[in-house]
Amino acid sequence: MTKQDSVETLLARAGHYLDKTTGAVVPPIQPSTTFARDEQGDLYDGNRIYARDHSLNTELAEAVLSQLESGASCKLFASGMAAATALVQTLRPGDRIVAPQAMYWSLRAWLISFCDDWGIDLAFYNPGNQESMHSVVKAAPTQLLWVETPANPTWEIVDINRASALAHEVGAQLIVDSTVSTPLLTKPIERGADFVFHSATKYINGHSDVVAGALIAAREDARWERLCKLRAQQGGILSPFDSWLLLRGMRTMHLRVERSCDNAMKFAQHFENYPSISEVIYPGLTSHPHHQIAAEQMTGGFGGMLSIRFEGGKARAASIMGRLTGFLRATSLGGVESLVEHRAVVEGEGTPVPDDLLRFSIGVENIKDLIEDLEQAINTSQK
Ligand SMILES: *Cc1c(COP(=O)(O)O)cnc(C)c1O
Repeated sequence: MTKQDSVETLLARAGHYLDKTTGAVVPPIQPSTTFARDEQGDLYDGNRIYARDHSLNTELAEAVLSQLESGASCKLFASGMAAATALVQTLRPGDRIVAPQAMYWSLRAWLISFCDDWGIDLAFYNPGNQESMHSVVKAAPTQLLWVETPANPTWEIVDINRASALAHEVGAQLIVDSTVSTPLLTKPIERGADFVFHSATKYINGHSDVVAGALIAAREDARWERLCKLRAQQGGILSPFDSWLLLRGMRTMHLRVERSCDNAMKFAQHFENYPSISEVIYPGLTSHPHHQIAAEQMTGGFGGMLSIRFEGGKARAASIMGRLTGFLRATSLGGVESLVEHRAVVEGEGTPVPDDLLRFSIGVENIKDLIEDLEQAINTSQK
């Protein structure tokens, strides 16, 4: 694993493990919770003392993610939410965080209550409007600017270069939730972000069988030190087995993401002007309001997520969803299997998401089967 390896090679060989005693090409799972000392009281392996902060399997996966994102350091957590909330907890009472109005729903809900409880000033900007971010960030001294791009579930694209310039101009740091863009399509750190966040539950693992979160830092600064201490003390760590699964999932991430992007583009184009459909929302379509920024900022594809709005409102959308036979009706995204979700219903009261909208996570199946499934669902659904 050298710096000059291309991304595909880095991933296929993730960790490039070789056990010199057995010849094994896959790392073992190391479940030990504690690490012994020799007769002199010295640790066998440097500073490896106790598994809450020193899991071998977790470190192997972190090293690959850190390199993939051009970061200085990566920390994995027990979930995306554990990672995101830990970073926000590095703020101090009186600090200010600026976040998008439309963002991952659970994180938004947590931010509102946490910032209120802990005396942190929270302000929201409209992610569809560059001016809005500008004026909200400039309105008061700010420590952290949160960006999610593309943003759930209407896939607004925020220009990371501009967001990082704005954050740094006022002495704030920028964190980018790059879950939907994956570590392959956008490199936030190369565009000036200070931190990158991923729900590794999604594309990084890719098989809908691990809940995990990742934070990658551009540099190991004071906030990152606080973050590392928080994880070690609060203990929101990933288990050795889940870390091992994550590393295994990463070996095929480039293939999975490439196919998902390709399928999503074909799906979006096929249904863009289709009867009963009022709008297909996908950053890869030229009709998307932020297509230009997406084309500049996302390389190799526009992601596997899209939303479709149907004529006939909530009842029609629900009827179509009920008639799909291949798409599983489930929340989450980024797995090899395609999923569909009535987002407004899942988010519940107070959601800004239109109720005629279905969110699709496009997997790696044969695209013909996916297109046929939605076509038959539209044609047989109640108008
Ligand atoms: C899933 C998700 C999260 C939360 O991650 P978990 O692993 O579910 O805790 C945050 N942001 C985005 C964009 C997500 O899709």
